[in-house]
Amino acid sequence: MKPTVKSKMPNLNLSVFAVMTQLAEEHKAVNLSQGFPDFDCDPELIDLVYQYLKSGKNQYAPMPGVPALRGEISKKIAGLYKANYDPQTEITITAGATEALYAAITAVVSSGDEVIIFEPFYDAYPPVVQYSGGKPVFIRLSPPDFSIPWDEVKKAVTSRTKLMILNSPHNPTGSILNEDDLRELAEIVDGTSVLIVSDEVYEHIVFDGFRHLSLATLPELRKRTFLISSFGKTYHTTGWKIGYCAAPEPLTAELRKIHQFITFAVNTPVQWAYADFLKERDDYLALSAFYQKKRDLFRRSIDSSRFEVLPCKGTYFQLADYSKISRKNDTEFVTELIKTHGVAAIPLSPFYHDSAGHKIIRFCFAKKDETLINAAELLCRI
Ligand code: PMP
Ligand code: GLN
Repeated sequence: MKPTVKSKMPNLNLSVFAVMTQLAEEHKAVNLSQGFPDFDCDPELIDLVYQYLKSGKNQYAPMPGVPALRGEISKKIAGLYKANYDPQTEITITAGATEALYAAITAVVSSGDEVIIFEPFYDAYPPVVQYSGGKPVFIRLSPPDFSIPWDEVKKAVTSRTKLMILNSPHNPTGSILNEDDLRELAEIVDGTSVLIVSDEVYEHIVFDGFRHLSLATLPELRKRTFLISSFGKTYHTTGWKIGYCAAPEPLTAELRKIHQFITFAVNTPVQWAYADFLKERDDYLALSAFYQKKRDLFRRSIDSSRFEVLPCKGTYFQLADYSKISRKNDTEFVTELIKTHGVAAIPLSPFYHDSAGHKIIRFCFAKKDETLINAAELLCRI
């Protein structure tokens, strides 16, 4: 008899990012779907990794991460967000933000706990809550600006609420939190034991003179927050999968209990290279201007198409409404876009627990200018 596996997650499909990139490759479409740059990272960063590979930094890093890197992250957060995290006890290097999210959520969510998730959401959040026996409580954000309805949040917080997951700048909508949002949030959680996961992987990609407001900037939020970020977005190195979590000591202690048995430690030479790079360079300060040019180029180039672009204040994603072009649902429309028109995008419905029925898709503009122009020409012909 063949062994059988009873699925723990029978309704969970393959991530839309894997599906669309594979389809784009099969059909040789210009890939504006999964979020990764089609240009390379700084050659100096590669040289640094090579240097550390050659100098023997090839064994396990300490479980929480290479101390020099934790030290540089602590200094960077202190400089940018006026928040102090002890590198010894409050910063942990993880296998991308993905592992940090997994470790933080599973460390604190137990059976029956409620977790507030705003939708559209990054697809990693709800499944991890569900593996832990938690119950996602979805709060919907509405186009065009996808701002947070704080009155609803206030009503949704109960004695069963263990965690709230926030993401700013927000994937897929490109919205960002402002000072009023942070104040509302602080008021709502004040006096409760609600914890927060703040996914800030696009912290350095904010446009039009706005600045990123980390949850770490407010002490009343910082004390209950797992602050998560990723070097993949900041240094054009999504394939290296190094991220981190900064959180107060008791939260970090619980996160590390999980991290030590997911990966124990992550890639040693890359951690050393990032530590040097962070110490010597502040390229991340120029990232917003770099991506704003790409956002503007892409928006301008599809101006004469029948797509209607939505606001985009941060991230490297641009939402576009296609209701003037097709009545198909978003997944069917994206499939047609790839197969017939040669451009890959991401439908919005996988970012909802029940598909919202919008006629909106997401384009990634972390691409060479020529890729964006090429894609835009194809989109303008539709
Ligand atoms: N959070 C968000 C909002 C993301 O868009 C991504 C994807 N890149 C991640 C987390 C995962 O980051 P990483 O690749 O570092 O695991
Ligand atoms: N964060 C990336 C995106 O939103 C994808 C990461 C992944 O493939 N899991 O496109």
